[in-house]
Amino acid sequence: MVIIGGGATGVGIAVDAASRGYSTLLLEQSDFGKGTSSRSTKLIHGGVRYLQQGNLPLVMEALRERRRLQANAPHLVHLLPFVVPAYRWWEVPYYGAGLKLYSLLALERSHILSRRETLERLPGANANGLRGGILYFDGQFDDARLLIHLALTAIEQGAVLLNYAQVTEASKSGVRFRDVETGEEHTAQARIVINAAGPFSDAVRRLADPSADPVLAPSQGIHIVLDRGFLPGETALLVPRTPDGRVMFAIPWLGHTLIGTTETPVTQAPLEPTAFEPEIAFLLEVSGRYLAKRPTRGDIRSVFAGIRPLVGSGGQSSAEVSRDHVIRVEPSGLLTIAGGKWTTYRRMAEDCVDRAAGIAGLPHRPCVTRDLPIHRWTEEQPAVLRAVRDEMARTVEDVLARRTRALFLDARSAVAQAPEVARVLAREQGRDSAWETAQVAAFEELARGYLPA
Ligand SMILES: Cc1cc2nc3c(=O)[nH]c(=O)nc-3n(C[C@H](O)[C@H](O)[C@H](O)COP(=O)(O)OP(=O)(O)OC[C@H]3O[C@@H](n4cnc5c(N)ncnc54)[C@H](O)[C@@H]3O)c2cc1C
Repeated sequence: MVIIGGGATGVGIAVDAASRGYSTLLLEQSDFGKGTSSRSTKLIHGGVRYLQQGNLPLVMEALRERRRLQANAPHLVHLLPFVVPAYRWWEVPYYGAGLKLYSLLALERSHILSRRETLERLPGANANGLRGGILYFDGQFDDARLLIHLALTAIEQGAVLLNYAQVTEASKSGVRFRDVETGEEHTAQARIVINAAGPFSDAVRRLADPSADPVLAPSQGIHIVLDRGFLPGETALLVPRTPDGRVMFAIPWLGHTLIGTTETPVTQAPLEPTAFEPEIAFLLEVSGRYLAKRPTRGDIRSVFAGIRPLVGSGGQSSAEVSRDHVIRVEPSGLLTIAGGKWTTYRRMAEDCVDRAAGIAGLPHRPCVTRDLPIHRWTEEQPAVLRAVRDEMARTVEDVLARRTRALFLDARSAVAQAPEVARVLAREQGRDSAWETAQVAAFEELARGYLPA
């Protein structure tokens, strides 16, 4: 099998296919996780929003996957307490009942908190008019870190994964791809080619069939990152209904406070999306209502945007609609998988490989990922050295954006680290000083997009 795309969907499929014993190649045009998979809210969750929509099967499936991931990767996923602060009299019974149901499905408990208990859990919450709160639990992770560990798991299972390998032609029997570093072209033959290109799936479908109509309805979501002082403690804050009818989170993440997200329909899916000004203003305004200390633009350490690879209604007519992801066999013979979310990547991969093996006429082999442990480093090593020697980082950006999360946590501090990282990379990869200088300049330029104007 050849898989196009090294995000959660593609890497999950590589783990599944290789662990069944199928010969597997994955090609990623940039770095693993450069697309949406490093830009999520970092929650492994059933989705309180789906519960509000009454989509119980989706919630239950996601919670099942959450339990599996906690068991297979306890070093990468943990449970995090969430509190919904209540400011109006009806909010405690209303949200309390919904979250009680959610917690029952998750086999956990939820609690109604008094005003004092709410402020103990959320010392950074706005105390003005606060009546109480509701406590429940969900899963948290570092998305780019889990992705790298999944890539290492796939490699241990026998798959070949290449970053900086851009597919330029695709058909049902193989692909042509370009080594982005050298410009060399290569081909690979396959019994089946899987398009797991997330928000870029339509572009990859057009590589195989230039007349293919788009099936995606992409939407952008952004996050802002603030100092930990805005949300001290170890509990996340959930706003169940923002003025635009969405949920919003303020979450303690790697010593900072992560706030998101938004939902803005977009027509293009750039590889490096940037936040729109009204999105930043919206998050500052809404979070300011719920936090004791109102954040301002100057408080933002980093802002990052991601594109949801949502499947639009037009795409479902000829597709097999399965939960919230879609698997479709294109007239070109390419197999496209789109939609879904990080939480359900394993289930998506299982469905996709079942389908792919059937179409390719490969011998049936059962899925083994339900209880397959995910890679774990056992020895301590400096992060940068490990990133370049064992985790396939090629550029300063790979190290500072995805092997460590410096760029996502604090863009200015990441820029300050760039020269040292470039020096280590140049030494390890045998590059010259011109390469080093160009890497630092490229990173500085990139980091500008992570700071509000
Ligand atoms: C703002 C936001 C918040 C989210 N929060 C959560 C959350 O908290 N929990 C959750 O479960 N889900 C969340 N999601 C959803 C989740 O992040 C996505 O569903 C998931 O990351 C999509 O992964 P993917 O592999 O399909 O796409 P991507 O990660 O975008 O991967 C596709 C890859 O394909 C590569 N590619 C494209 N064209 C080519 C080519 N020609 N050759 C080679 N490679 C190519 C791209 O470079 C890219 O890396 C969130 C999404 C967004 C946008």
